[in-house]
Amino acid sequence: MKEVLLLKLGEVVLKGLNRRRFESRLIANLRRRLEKVGKCSVYTMQSTIYVEPADGVDMDEVLEAVHNVFGIVAICRAAVCEKDMDAIWETVNTYLADELESAERFKVEAKRSDKKFPLNSIQICQKIGGDLDDKYDNLIPDMHNPNLRVTIEIRDKAAYVHAGKMPGPGGMPVGTNGKAALLLSGGIDSPVAGYMMAKRGLELCAVHFFSYPYTSERAKEKVMELAEQLTHYAGRMEVFVVPFTEIQEAIRDNCPEDMFTLIMRRFMMRLAEKVALEHEAGALITGESLGQVASQTMEAMNVTGAVCSIPVFRPVIGMDKEEIVQISRKIGTFETSILPYEDCCTVFTPKHPLTRPKKFKVEEAERALDVNALVERALANVESVVL
Ligand code: ATP
Ligand code: MG
Repeated sequence: MKEVLLLKLGEVVLKGLNRRRFESRLIANLRRRLEKVGKCSVYTMQSTIYVEPADGVDMDEVLEAVHNVFGIVAICRAAVCEKDMDAIWETVNTYLADELESAERFKVEAKRSDKKFPLNSIQICQKIGGDLDDKYDNLIPDMHNPNLRVTIEIRDKAAYVHAGKMPGPGGMPVGTNGKAALLLSGGIDSPVAGYMMAKRGLELCAVHFFSYPYTSERAKEKVMELAEQLTHYAGRMEVFVVPFTEIQEAIRDNCPEDMFTLIMRRFMMRLAEKVALEHEAGALITGESLGQVASQTMEAMNVTGAVCSIPVFRPVIGMDKEEIVQISRKIGTFETSILPYEDCCTVFTPKHPLTRPKKFKVEEAERALDVNALVERALANVESVVL
């Protein structure tokens, strides 16, 4: 029996004239994701995206590949059959055999988008529902709380039979809202921040600040692993590793201790902005959450954000740690994030960091450094990896 996926679009369809651009980006994202699985034809018709695997391609793998592609609100795994009531009845009984055996309360739902089909939706439901009720003693019709929805869609090319929709990941297709640079540490918050913004249609690149030998090769590998996990949602991603040792040592040697973290984070923002602009990214993303640490108070974020002029997105700003952890478990980054590691933020941490810094004071302290030269040298030695 031939199977296909019918993918229902979310906000995409609301986008008026942009809709075609959204759909074609979503199709391109799906095709890229499916390359590894095997040959599939992906096309759109009647505001549904069809995924038709070639013979021999494993449908479970196809489903696995598309189930977290943003822009899809619902997924139906369906059998294809002729637009004929006998063929539909036959397909319902064979394709949904297991479900029909085990369910207790069922409902038939029909959608007829091909108006030339002789029966309308209500007539299809009555016919198939009546016949199922006669044939299966274990089933009773239940319009309000069924545990099996026998669904029949009569579309232009064929009829489709399935057991109802599965939820998709929602969001908007990656790339439809442009590209941003994610400041990716090895912690819990920044991968979640990246996931949330990819869900809103941003393509990502990642920037990681690396302070060898204060932070180890292993810490870098961990960040690469997190970035790789994010590609399951965000697709292709380039990771830029920026050497940060010289900057941190210069801060340690020349600036007041209670400002170490603030000044360090100002360098991160400057460097990330430069990397972003060089690679067509129009915003930064961080995993900052209000009040979580000294550098994440309103005043501190004012001081650290002041050095860059592109927008800084902080999608977890209003979330509790527990809520962030929940998402990180859901997206599969949690176990990697909690591996022991050192981050450059935990090197040279002040004992009593300022929580209500004044911008002019921090700027004054920074004058002890040749900021431009430090930035230029770090940028000259950036390494990049495409995932
Ligand atoms: P996370 O769990 O993401 O590490 P955190 O609560 O530990 O966050 P901080 O260490 O203060 O917070 O960092 C705040 C944000 O700064 C991070 O979410 C991340 O976006 C960015 N950041 C911190 N360290 C690095 C780093 N080494 N490389 C790139 N970005 C970093
Ligand atoms: Mg961190």
